[in-house]
Amino acid sequence: MKRYLLAPGPTPVPPVILQAMAQPMIHHRTPEYEALFAEVRRDLRTLFQCGNEVLMFAASGTGAMEGSVANTLSPGDHAIVVQGGKFGERWAEICRAYGVRVLAVTVPYGKSVEPEMVAAALRQAPETRVVFATHSETSTGAVHDIQALAGIVRRTDALLVVDAITSLGVMDLPMDSWGVDVVVSGSQKALMLPPGLAFAALSDRAWARVPEARLPKFYFDFAKERKAMAGNQSAYTPAVSLVVGLRESLRLILAEGLPNVFARHDRLARATRAGVQALGLTLFADHPGAACTAVKAPDGIGGDAIVKGLRKRGITIAGGQGSMKGTMFRIAHMGHVEVFDVLTALAGLEMVLADLGHPVTLGAGLRAAEEVLRK
Ligand SMILES: *Cc1c(COP(=O)(O)O)cnc(C)c1O
Repeated sequence: MKRYLLAPGPTPVPPVILQAMAQPMIHHRTPEYEALFAEVRRDLRTLFQCGNEVLMFAASGTGAMEGSVANTLSPGDHAIVVQGGKFGERWAEICRAYGVRVLAVTVPYGKSVEPEMVAAALRQAPETRVVFATHSETSTGAVHDIQALAGIVRRTDALLVVDAITSLGVMDLPMDSWGVDVVVSGSQKALMLPPGLAFAALSDRAWARVPEARLPKFYFDFAKERKAMAGNQSAYTPAVSLVVGLRESLRLILAEGLPNVFARHDRLARATRAGVQALGLTLFADHPGAACTAVKAPDGIGGDAIVKGLRKRGITIAGGQGSMKGTMFRIAHMGHVEVFDVLTALAGLEMVLADLGHPVTLGAGLRAAEEVLRK
């Protein structure tokens, strides 16, 4: 059966990247690797819109999240965590694992934080050292206003650390000009790579904090990694094949141009939203982002039945995580995706809903999406 991968990570890997990664292994302490690494380091700074070095680790995205906690805080420090989904909650879990005291600013699943809530929390807890937030909350499809949060956090001594794992390369996040202190991401979302690379970019303000941060760390020691990168190397054996793939991924993204990449994701997201709404379905998020569309499962039909029905037809989407399981489904449109990927998802959805006995007009979702996409 022909298969379509439309889940919010891992995402489809373009053939040119697969081919590059299938070449014979090269050694990482060689001029060949150093030429590759220099190009990747330069292009990562463009992608992150960051003047400083972008650190790279062999880990899933969570590794860079853990490193961001360990390199900015000391035992017993206070942090504010913006929570509105599973990934916001992950920041709090990592902090607690390291003995950091967490003040959670929580919004219901599907909502985006009101920036004023964070301002109020900072007034209530002026000892806060770091505010952790999520740009694109993949578990609910919601986007948080990072620019507004940066404006607020900037007026205090706290750092703003942002999980951009499904927003980097999807939505604009100019970290230097917005004043975001740490941006973390991973390889298997909009970077169109297999899982296994984690990234962290730090502002000057964040780097100034690193020597004071006394939480334990070894592999995710940011200062050590930055020192190795200054010599165009990594502290430990890099995920060589993934870095080879990353060069191709960055070439693809920068050849398309960041503004065009963001516009493409926005258009696909708008088409997907129009399509599901034309089928009478409701979006899960009040302020949906461009990475993935979370949709409430219709009454009487669990989200998991829809996921399963699509899987039988060769299409992989995602259900709900944690307590959202069964209540929703998520169609991703990030990375190596185009018009006919979202149309495939919507066509499959229409057929599966009809199979499940839900009243749908076949073609209604496609028609609404096509109206958006033809413009
Ligand atoms: C996928 C994802 C992660 C986590 O990533 P892993 O690579 O599984 O560690 C974290 N945050 C967000 C918002 C994500 O979408």
